[in-house]
Amino acid sequence: MGSATSSSSFGERPPSDADPELVAKARRRPQEMSNREWRSVLGETAYRVARAHGTEPAFTGELLDNKGEGVYLCTCCQAELFSSATKYDSGSGWPSFYDTMKKARGIIIMSLLAN
Ligand SMILES: [Zn+2]
Repeated sequence: MGSATSSSSFGERPPSDADPELVAKARRRPQEMSNREWRSVLGETAYRVARAHGTEPAFTGELLDNKGEGVYLCTCCQAELFSSATKYDSGSGWPSFYDTMKKARGIIIMSLLAN
């Protein structure tokens, strides 16, 4: 962190021993992934949080105090979810954002169409 350049991305990466073909499948066709496949590409903690209704204890996530500029990715399919520009300190103990990438993109598209 601390670099002035933008375009960082944040989020858990697949375990280093994950099958590259399964990692690619998770990005391209996440709806076709079985629970066993998700477990192998996410690792135990991310699987529990992202796929099995688990949660990290408040104030323990490594991205809570992240101030870097960039994009926050879905840990499952690497979709862009949130921009650091919309991150704020909610005091909840989990990273908080006041908008999603999809909405931000929608606004950009609408402003282009209005021209
Ligand atoms: Zn996803």
